[in-house]
Amino acid sequence: MSARILVVDDIEANVRLLEAKLSAEYYEVLTAPDGPTALALAAAEKPDIILLDVMMPGMDGFTVCRRLKDDPETRHIPVVLLTALDGRADRVAGLEAGADDFLTKPMDDVMLFARVRSLTRLKSVIDELREREASGRRMGVIAGVASRLGGTGGRILIVDDHERQAQRVCSELAIEHRPVVESTPENAMLAARGPVDLIIVNAAAKSFDGLRFAAQIRSDEATRSLPILAIVDFDERARLVKALEIGVNDVLPRPIDPQELAARVKTQIRRKRYTDYLRENLDQSLELAVTDQLTGLHNRRYMESQLDALVRRAVLGGSDPVALLVIDIDHFKKVNDSFGHGVGDEVLREFAVRLASNVRAIDLPVRFGGEEFVVVMPETELAHAHRIAERIRLHVAGSPFRVMDGEELLTVTISIGVAASLADDTPVKLVRRADEAMYEAKAHGRNRVIAKAA
Ligand code: GH3
Ligand code: MG
Ligand code: MG
Repeated sequence: MSARILVVDDIEANVRLLEAKLSAEYYEVLTAPDGPTALALAAAEKPDIILLDVMMPGMDGFTVCRRLKDDPETRHIPVVLLTALDGRADRVAGLEAGADDFLTKPMDDVMLFARVRSLTRLKSVIDELREREASGRRMGVIAGVASRLGGTGGRILIVDDHERQAQRVCSELAIEHRPVVESTPENAMLAARGPVDLIIVNAAAKSFDGLRFAAQIRSDEATRSLPILAIVDFDERARLVKALEIGVNDVLPRPIDPQELAARVKTQIRRKRYTDYLRENLDQSLELAVTDQLTGLHNRRYMESQLDALVRRAVLGGSDPVALLVIDIDHFKKVNDSFGHGVGDEVLREFAVRLASNVRAIDLPVRFGGEEFVVVMPETELAHAHRIAERIRLHVAGSPFRVMDGEELLTVTISIGVAASLADDTPVKLVRRADEAMYEAKAHGRNRVIAKAA
């Protein structure tokens, strides 16, 4: 899985070194020499990961990080702070600023790529969830997510056989969360199936293998999406790398620094809340993502996702063309102006019913937007599409629309443009030709069909 990575450092040699290492692994690299440039690039390019130097003249890395995390457009992008080897204070300040991870300079290749890989995986999940959520929210049904992002009150399962360490972690976390301790993997596995927001496992436990436990959590359907924070001895590099490979979300070095513990836990809980929220709304937003709420027809987004494949198949596969109708209701504004928006909506719904009942099962009737509709017709010649369009036109103009519980009868007409895919076509060109044909129909007096040959 590749990713676009923004590297921010004021020292050119550092930038070049990271760029060379990352490019060699086929990551796409963007670079910025200072904070303001980084913020502008992050907003414009939406990279998948940001590697951010802490010490920079002017705007330092903490400020850049805080700005990135304050902006709804960039807050989901994982930020990795690049700190000095002895920079524990920096790390804590960085986590408080919302950073997702650290790498210490000089950079260790194994840690670098382990971190980048695990963040890339996480980012792709978040992207998918965000996209689905956004399509739901655009329709005004799903409320904003901001209020749910708090990082306190987490249900934390501590899995550790080292009693004193476990108790210390537990009492630190009890200030803001609801931690419980389990000292055997069997009991912990049972507890993990209950309501849990985060698992903290001691990877250096004496009586059980903490990493095996982490792997079990990852492979069990019921627990696989739970975040895991592993307590690791940083001298044991092999185990550290192994932990990240297994899919542990974050690691905490021993001896445990209370502030670092609190900050890393908060980051994980916040992220868990975010993905939970998105998942809860997933089914609903998936449905919303493809359906127009007023008419129940498919929406433009769905059409575009389908049309791409259909045009490609027609163009490459040499099968019959894809035909497209662009339909616009004539003088629809007058309906709104004379009878109100509610009646306008009634007309749109009735039109959708007439449209859907006059196309074939394989055709795709779509509300393109406003009072404009599209029908996608797979494997259909232009002339045939023209005939279907004419049939639809007659079914609309031929009998008036009953609105306001039958109090009014409105005569509605439509103008239709028809196009069919050509040898070197793209969806955009196809839609544009049908659209132009529709405007010709308007210009020639409306209530008519015009087909656009090449
Ligand atoms: P033309 O024959 O040139 O297409 O004229 P028109 O009045 O149909 O076209 P115009 O694009 O000027 O106006 C379209 C109107 O459709 C304007 C807008 O208020 C209305 N409209 C768009 N979406 C909706 C909707 O969801 N419900 C209602 N009631 N009206 C809508
Ligand atoms: Mg119109
Ligand atoms: Mg219009």
